[in-house]
Amino acid sequence: LPPTNDIISHNTQKASKTMKILITGGAGFIGSAVIRYLVNDTDCQVINLDKLTYAGNLDSLEPVADSPRYQFEQADICDREALDRIFSTHRPDAVMHLAAESHVDRSIDGPGDFIQTNLVGTYTILEASRTYLASLEEQKGSAFRFLHVSTDEVYGDLAGSDDLFREDTSYDPSSPYSATKAGSDHLVRAWGRTFKFPVLITNCSNNYGPYQFPEKLIPHMILNALDGKPLPIYGDGSQIRDWLYVDDHARALYRVLTTGKLGETYNIGGLNEKKNIDVVRTICAIMDQAVTVKPAGVERFDSLITYVTDRPGHDERYAIDASKINADLGWSPDEDFESGIRKTVSWYLENREWWQRVVDGSYRLERLGVGD
Ligand code: NAD
Repeated sequence: LPPTNDIISHNTQKASKTMKILITGGAGFIGSAVIRYLVNDTDCQVINLDKLTYAGNLDSLEPVADSPRYQFEQADICDREALDRIFSTHRPDAVMHLAAESHVDRSIDGPGDFIQTNLVGTYTILEASRTYLASLEEQKGSAFRFLHVSTDEVYGDLAGSDDLFREDTSYDPSSPYSATKAGSDHLVRAWGRTFKFPVLITNCSNNYGPYQFPEKLIPHMILNALDGKPLPIYGDGSQIRDWLYVDDHARALYRVLTTGKLGETYNIGGLNEKKNIDVVRTICAIMDQAVTVKPAGVERFDSLITYVTDRPGHDERYAIDASKINADLGWSPDEDFESGIRKTVSWYLENREWWQRVVDGSYRLERLGVGD
């Protein structure tokens, strides 16, 4: 028998409810967590648009790579032609823009890539998205939204005060990284105001968790400790960061995308202010218990701590007031630092294969076709 109209309309309705999201930077640390969350915990379809710089690692998507709701497009967000092709091929309902150069130390050594990707790239994807939106029929167009994912570093330094960053805190970035992220936020806000482009912005505190590239503080310390290498602390280690477990950030971003008010900014934080030195001491204490065979000559991991010259322009304290996203959208973090850091250390201890391929470079060679 042919399907009845009832069944057809039910199926069409169901299909039209599945949101198709274009994610930029989905092979990075946070982007891959967002994609794993969307594929595993929602019925969304995901297109991952990533250039695969040194920070992009398709291994991090291995848990969802075979899903029929996941697709990958290798492209640069500065390449307008590629963006236009990807928009017209996939016709997404929303964009979550995470692609960026993200490492402060690299931005000090060479700011050029940060200007290019964070500023020119954000401009280019805004324009490609705006052209695409103009081509959409009324219903699909009115539901379209563009979520720009940014950092609390745009607000600058809270040294010596008890203040918290609120959504209306003035911008005062210190590093080339945070300056380019601040600039990208301004572009997104201007596109919202001038072109009535449907934007949302989030500013989040430091993330940590599984699949983070080993150049960042927490994985760097875990892997150095396992190797019996020094644990280098900038300055006296008194810098304070508000740490958020990456899966909590992924949930927050989806919440903002689906229920946030257009044109609004939401600060996202973990309510976990910690000094860098205390973060490292906590990691050492967990590893003292968890690692039974320690490197030669190491009885306690904190004996590896060494103090090194501080990073130029290093901000002393960041802290987020996340009361708006909590009150308006009902989001709060599931993990506190104690539970999240235990999970993170365990993950690195149990997933040597993932980080070994990063450390020896094979995660890049294979995808470039230069494998062994
Ligand atoms: P990441 O460096 O781990 O990943 C960035 C991803 O973007 C990589 O997969 C890389 O290949 C891709 N990429 C870089 N340049 C590109 C380009 N020109 N075109 C296409 N893809 C490109 O970064 P992350 O830590 O996952 O951060 C993601 C976003 O979240 C960034 O915008 C960052 O500013 C923001 N953020 C990060 C943190 C944090 O603690 N890591 C905190 C708050 C906000």
